[in-house]
Amino acid sequence: MAVQQDVIVIGGGTIGLSAAYHASCRRDTQGKNYSVTLVDQYDLDNGNNSSKGYERMYRVLYAPKERARLVESAYAMWHEMESYTGNQILAEHPMLFFGFPNSGTFEGKLQDIADTMDNLGIPYDRLNSPNEISNAFPMFNPDGMPPNYVGLRQNMGATILVQPSFKAFEGLARDNGVNFITNSKAMSIKPGAGGPPYTVTLDDGTQIEAQFLILAPGIWLNDTLKYFGLQAASSWSIRTMTLGYYNTAPTYRNALPVWYEFGSADNGLYYGFQPTGQGPSNVVSQYPYAVKVSADFTHNTTNNVATALMTPPNQDILNAITQRLGSLFQPNTFSSDIALAGSEDACNYSMNGDGDMVLGRIPMGPGSTSYWKNASLFCMASGRGFKFTPLWGRVLTDLAIDGVTSYQNDIEPFSPSRKDVFQNA
Ligand SMILES: Cc1cc2nc3c(=O)[nH]c(=O)nc-3n(C[C@H](O)[C@H](O)[C@H](O)COP(=O)(O)OP(=O)(O)OC[C@H]3O[C@@H](n4cnc5c(N)ncnc54)[C@H](O)[C@@H]3O)c2cc1C
Repeated sequence: MAVQQDVIVIGGGTIGLSAAYHASCRRDTQGKNYSVTLVDQYDLDNGNNSSKGYERMYRVLYAPKERARLVESAYAMWHEMESYTGNQILAEHPMLFFGFPNSGTFEGKLQDIADTMDNLGIPYDRLNSPNEISNAFPMFNPDGMPPNYVGLRQNMGATILVQPSFKAFEGLARDNGVNFITNSKAMSIKPGAGGPPYTVTLDDGTQIEAQFLILAPGIWLNDTLKYFGLQAASSWSIRTMTLGYYNTAPTYRNALPVWYEFGSADNGLYYGFQPTGQGPSNVVSQYPYAVKVSADFTHNTTNNVATALMTPPNQDILNAITQRLGSLFQPNTFSSDIALAGSEDACNYSMNGDGDMVLGRIPMGPGSTSYWKNASLFCMASGRGFKFTPLWGRVLTDLAIDGVTSYQNDIEPFSPSRKDVFQNA
């Protein structure tokens, strides 16, 4: 006999957690909170998903206008989460985007970002040369940059503290009665005709029947989408990204911005954080001012989940990061033992062929604009989904329960019905 629930969420990464919380805030026609179950195949804080770790970048600096607007909405919601829980989630500090003005990257071009900020009236400062960048942020060495580098400085930037964020969403969801089933895989989903009820069978045989279904399955998307006749189009990939922690010297550590370098797209994209006191315990216990630095390019792509999960941090990329920190920063920015042994890690994300996220209702077939009723989906999170966490949880809830969201126009570019997202399973 199936357990009856109003809402089932598959996936307990940051987006599934947020969706479970938002769904648990909804009430039925009798004014009773919806019953919600969230299922994850691992522990909530697991070392396999895309949400693992300690820091993520929050920024408004986006080239597409609707994305800048959406991320501003998310900013207000992050602060709501902080006020509900009394805990800090965003460590706010200035942000520096710099590099070639027209380097085409998955993150857009600096020039286009500046145009969008102008268009939306969002304040920022334009830094027109390596010297201007270095005047604004003296830890950057102008001699380590090509002469045509420019920069954008914005005060509205932050490091999202991943662990406090997880605790906030999980805590509020538990307070609202969300039932968490961890270390249990959703093995099959059986929709009714065109939609609800959705019967989800777990690996221990438990069956849960829900009126509303929210999928946030990360790189495992094909395991659940096949029950809707879909799988990722052949152009999708799982990218294994490499990161490490680096020890800062006292001189500049408190003035470091969150930074992102727009060098050449295939091997010149790097980013780093301020010290936040967060990080792997073996690192921060010894080096409380260590910072995370990562390359935003990879030599490891696959579309096989098992392969991705076994891929270790890439040593060539770690060497490239160390080398770049040595040339980009003044010598007294990082201490001599900058690369902290044992701090290196790899983290996977899935990416659609066009590089963009996928958020919406679940189409009846590839490219279809007819949808399964009472169901919503987020996948292909790529390297940018975390900052949208509170907003995407609300949108997924709106789409599953109401079929529409007030953010409908702005999320259109992420439509699961757009070309080359899915093919027939
Ligand atoms: C190295 C790296 C750096 C990043 N940096 C940033 C950044 O600076 N700023 C930013 O905004 N974003 C960033 N991102 C992106 C962001 O982290 C992701 O977009 C986000 O974490 C995706 O969350 P998710 O919940 O969709 O997926 P995941 O965290 O992958 O969670 C999916 C969950 O679903 C579960 N699951 C799947 N299928 C099943 C099933 N059948 N049964 C049970 N459980 C299932 C999995 O176990 C998993 O826990 C980065 C990502 C990476 C990898």
